[in-house]
Amino acid sequence: MTRKKIFAANWKMNNMTAEVATFFGAIGDSCVALKDREVIVTPSFPYLAQAAALAKGKNITLAAQNFHFEENGAFTGEVSLTMLADLGIRTVLIGHSERRHVMGESHEHLRKKVAFAQKKGFRTIFCIGETLAQREKGELFAVIDMQLSSAFDGNLTCPPEDMVIAYEPVWAIGTGVNATGAQAQEMHDYVRKFMDKHYGRKDITILYGGSVKPDNVKELMTMPDIDGALVGGASLKADSFSKLIFWDR
Ligand code: PEP
Repeated sequence: MTRKKIFAANWKMNNMTAEVATFFGAIGDSCVALKDREVIVTPSFPYLAQAAALAKGKNITLAAQNFHFEENGAFTGEVSLTMLADLGIRTVLIGHSERRHVMGESHEHLRKKVAFAQKKGFRTIFCIGETLAQREKGELFAVIDMQLSSAFDGNLTCPPEDMVIAYEPVWAIGTGVNATGAQAQEMHDYVRKFMDKHYGRKDITILYGGSVKPDNVKELMTMPDIDGALVGGASLKADSFSKLIFWDR
């Protein structure tokens, strides 16, 4: 099966009104005719509606960086999936290392988010990845096993295309040090086999994230099990993100 490549921009807590307008203005109609790859942008919450209006007709999917796993209620500061659906959004990030390590989201918290996103019919980009210390201690595969099995808890019910995995080694995020093509491929192959063995999902889409830049994108994207990229720093401006989307042109 040919898996469609995905290039997802994770803007984190960056880009405000002017930058959002500049980004979409600069990217223009360049994605409109794309069929073999999907472009996703995740702005900060205050700019989702602005971005949704600007992305209309541009063949760019908008996604959310976060949400809460309850329907609604007394959760100050949180955003519900119903609110996101109201803006036409149905793709969410879960498990980003900053949510795990900075915001303290536990395996149990992430399991609830995955279950709720599945229940509500959202597509999830589920992020996994080891720290440098875990890699150096030889715990790499055990960490990934734990992150995958605790999140899905034997209960992956969404359609195959609604669960995308992003392998993002923590030591590569925002550091300028990317995993080599070989390191990333080794893990993508492992994750694909894991998802096939436990969930019958051999053709799952698996993105790589961690300091993807125009000068390393080709090495990564030509690996057989790498189906695209989740990008932080190099996605903030349209010119560098376009070089990633159109890496082979
Ligand atoms: C990320 O935050 O998901 C990420 C991959 O960041 P960067 O590309 O800046 O390493």
